Amino acid sequence: MSPHENPLLTLHSYPRAIVHFDGDAFFASVEQAVHPELKGRPVVTGRERGIIACASYEAKALGVARGITLAEARKKCPELVILPSDYETYSLYSKRMFDIMRRYTPVVEEYSIDEGFVDLSGLRRVFHTSYEEIARRMQQDVRAELDITVSVGLSLSKGLSKLASKFRKPAGFTAVAGNHLHLFLPRIALEKVWGFGPNTVHLLKKYGLQTAWDFVGRPESWAEKMMGKIGREIWNELRGVAMHPVSTEEKSTYYTISKCKTFAEPTRDRDQVFARLTRNVESAFIKLRRHRLRAREIQVTLRFQDFTYEGIEARLQRPTAATQEVMPLVRDLFDRVWRDGAEYRATIVVLGRLEPDRGEQFELFEDRVRIDKMSAVSGVIDAVNERYGKHTLSLGASLFLGRKPTTGRGTLPWRKRELLGGETFRQRLKIPRLGVQV
Ligand SMILES: [Mg+2]
Repeated sequence: MSPHENPLLTLHSYPRAIVHFDGDAFFASVEQAVHPELKGRPVVTGRERGIIACASYEAKALGVARGITLAEARKKCPELVILPSDYETYSLYSKRMFDIMRRYTPVVEEYSIDEGFVDLSGLRRVFHTSYEEIARRMQQDVRAELDITVSVGLSLSKGLSKLASKFRKPAGFTAVAGNHLHLFLPRIALEKVWGFGPNTVHLLKKYGLQTAWDFVGRPESWAEKMMGKIGREIWNELRGVAMHPVSTEEKSTYYTISKCKTFAEPTRDRDQVFARLTRNVESAFIKLRRHRLRAREIQVTLRFQDFTYEGIEARLQRPTAATQEVMPLVRDLFDRVWRDGAEYRATIVVLGRLEPDRGEQFELFEDRVRIDKMSAVSGVIDAVNERYGKHTLSLGASLFLGRKPTTGRGTLPWRKRELLGGETFRQRLKIPRLGVQV
């Protein structure tokens, strides 16, 4: 059957409404958002590997592409800004991007760090507006709040919306309703179809097919005969029949903030090591607040002179972004990991189970006044440090840094954990659970 005998696949505009969004040059764009002085300049990431991981649109315009070596890239573009990858910051931007999508619906799939699907089906009534308008609002929110752009595709299935988001980039918006499929699919070369590899394309071309429209013009049984179950699924997805639901499996546990500081010289001094740990905790919490997140889990790891580690982690009773609130717990974790006489070379702090800070949510029996005060103190510390430099204002314990070691302080009784009592300690870890470090 020729496709032209079958001009309309469906009369319905959106029997399902699936959005695919894709960050434009994501890593490079995040760098430009974090460092506005890099805006408009050719920026690439991947310095640590010697190969370009991501090129900004300015760099792409000069012929610099992902996968080429730094030497080649410098030849093409001597003024290229070459940055080491900062996956932790990219992950945090990714998390914030997905959190924006989740404000509209929980049916969000994290397909990769910078790509996801959202099922908007049925939300027209909830938002009293069209699917196009909802998808555009999501796109605008990302730009306004994160200062990066995403390209958006809206259509009837994951396969179609992914094609649509690639159709116009960067900051593109492409909506393909069911009654417009016959206009869209003839413009999609077989090579672009999600799931078609080079061998499949080669095979289909032997049968005279050129576009996705040619493919869906063949009978379903033909697609299945050529490519098996996958062929049948792609055939249906391209015709607007969703074969794969948007999967909402939680991935956020993988986002963490970590700070690692190696000492200039190894030390056995308990106060010194705790002071450095405290400073790491402060740095990690500053980053946490900058990203408007709270942590529910904290891990403290000490690295010995021989490069082995010992670490311990604890679940917080409630998520927090206030440094002071966790310090009694940090003290306790430190005391549990510390070994007298051992020589230490680094401290590592990892904050896990991050979630967006949506303002305080108090639980019963909590000391509300004290929690409020601690949040206020953290706010003041951030404001002063922003103005006068990092660690201008810091916690008492870290003042031991740069001072002669004192005696006796290491035996300070650790305070009762008034706010954090009842957290569950897990077994000691021989190595840190997470490898990402800053
Ligand atoms: Mg992308």
